[in-house]
Amino acid sequence: LFATGGEFLKGVVAMSGMPPADRVEVCFAGRSNVGKSTLINALTGRKALARASNTPGRTQEINFFTLADSHYLVDLPGYGFANAPVKEVAKWQALLKAYLAGRPSLRRAFVLIDARHGPKDVDEEIMSLLDASAVTFQAVLTKADKVKEAEREKVLDRTRATLAKHPAAFPELIVTSSEKGWGIPTLRSVI
Ligand code: GDP
Repeated sequence: LFATGGEFLKGVVAMSGMPPADRVEVCFAGRSNVGKSTLINALTGRKALARASNTPGRTQEINFFTLADSHYLVDLPGYGFANAPVKEVAKWQALLKAYLAGRPSLRRAFVLIDARHGPKDVDEEIMSLLDASAVTFQAVLTKADKVKEAEREKVLDRTRATLAKHPAAFPELIVTSSEKGWGIPTLRSVI
């Protein structure tokens, strides 16, 4: 599945622009700067497939990538911008809700969480939305190379406690470092 890399298909700003729901689909969600672009690039083995989208102006787009001829890998816009305009946030939430409710081919969401910080309120909001949309999700800790072992265990415990509150959550966490390549084969095999 990952042998051919991945190809950028399109950026979508409305449900009408979505490709047909005719492939296995997984999506990636996470706060801006969590390391989502870097992880997608590490997964697909492409250096700059997903570009860091750290500007509020680009928060609207849902990016579709193809994997072989059978899968879509979907990059949801980063959330949690400190000073994103209220109107932008509302538009983004509406699109996200429509996407999560409207893709029967969506098999799983991966919610990326910074291994240094653990889940934040905005992550829990996304998890609740996934519960409500009946989209099963799995938490992926990112940048695990940046935390010491003892600290990592604390974050893992906190994350597990958070996941236990969400019916759509898988109990298993995936710990990754795009920098070190940790967890990448696991994530690939899950997909
Ligand atoms: P995005 O906004 O979620 O797409 O985040 P990016 O992928 O742009 O990453 C944000 C910053 O974190 C960048 O400076 C990356 O180089 C850094 N980063 C991402 N993944 C890792 C990782 O696994 N380890 C370390 N040490 N840094 C990372």
